[in-house]
Amino acid sequence: MNSRVEKIQISGIRRFYEKVQKVEGAISLTIGQPDFNVPIDIKKAMIDVIKKDKTTYTSNAGIEPLREEISNYLRKFNINYDKEEICITVGGSEGLFAVLSAIINQEDKILIPSPAYPAYESISNIIGAKVVNYSLNDDFTLNVDEIKRKIKEENIKYLLISFPSNPTGAILSKENRNELIKLIKENDIIVITDEMYSAIIFDEYYSVAQESEILDKVIYVSGFSKIFSMTGLRVGYFACKNKFMKEIIKVHQYAVSCAPSIAQWGALEGLKKSLDDVENMRKTFELRKRYCIKRLNDIGIEVIEPKGAFYIFPSIKKFNMSSEDFCTRLLKEEKLACVPGTAFGTLGEGYMRISYCYSNEVLSEAFNRLEKFIKKLNNNY
Ligand code: PLP
Repeated sequence: MNSRVEKIQISGIRRFYEKVQKVEGAISLTIGQPDFNVPIDIKKAMIDVIKKDKTTYTSNAGIEPLREEISNYLRKFNINYDKEEICITVGGSEGLFAVLSAIINQEDKILIPSPAYPAYESISNIIGAKVVNYSLNDDFTLNVDEIKRKIKEENIKYLLISFPSNPTGAILSKENRNELIKLIKENDIIVITDEMYSAIIFDEYYSVAQESEILDKVIYVSGFSKIFSMTGLRVGYFACKNKFMKEIIKVHQYAVSCAPSIAQWGALEGLKKSLDDVENMRKTFELRKRYCIKRLNDIGIEVIEPKGAFYIFPSIKKFNMSSEDFCTRLLKEEKLACVPGTAFGTLGEGYMRISYCYSNEVLSEAFNRLEKFIKKLNNNY
């Protein structure tokens, strides 16, 4: 076995999800799958291309009309990549894997946030990179001074940022974006920005990729799993300058050849016709977010308001239990599953992640169960 692989663990989110399957009647707020169907125009387009037998390999980089449409879509947000600078991947996951394995040498140091989406650290470990974590401010915003310090002290070559964040829901502020752009200009680093949830934002959207001058140091990763609720169809993408593209595409080619052809045509139709569906979904998530905050506050649980994605990351520190114990007891005693904060890194201790991509009825019952559990804890059971 590869000893680096032996040392890493299956994602804590999945591990907890599996536990839930064994508890009858459990409600699970664990998974990042929007509870919306794939927009109808995407489904029709996929049926149509099956009938037309567009089921062969596509070019390694993906079908040209989709790359062109992504380029147009990103330009609406002042992110300027040509279609040749975009590669379609098998979900954001394969994009991240191809990017990190193509550009990082063993022992190179990469700065990764904690808490964060677990794949960053695990992929880095698989490829033999050295992970250095950076913490976040108390409101989960970026602490640019800490990043600056670590880059200097630790000889960092790569910086990973991800907004809106899974698990915290934090987004990049204008001020932080500008500070980051300055930092990227002044340092010899490469930045990977994972913007999987960029379509689900409840405030202004800012990205370091909006500064064209630094695009020779930035690799942008995103995809359609969340925006079009098509997690099982596996289409993502990354965008970057040719010096990166020509290397990353080799890894992508030898790993997967290309993303699924049918789903690529579906995503193309989605960008052309389904952005209204996305807006409706975003609005629904915003309402649910408000509901979650109200219920948590009423129960007496502290929470930082998320500004994007569909997760909320309340503090459970006052209950003096590890997040794993808290979530295990919550599941056992009240049949409610949330993900322990430590599934997102050591600095996730003291928190749990609630995914609110569930119906109002499910959320209402889930918070009733949480309320019951907290009452019990407050009475020292
Ligand atoms: N990046 C982030 C922040 C995510 O939360 C996820 C999935 O949950 C991914 C990337 C991977 O996305 P995909 O399902 O398209 O592989």
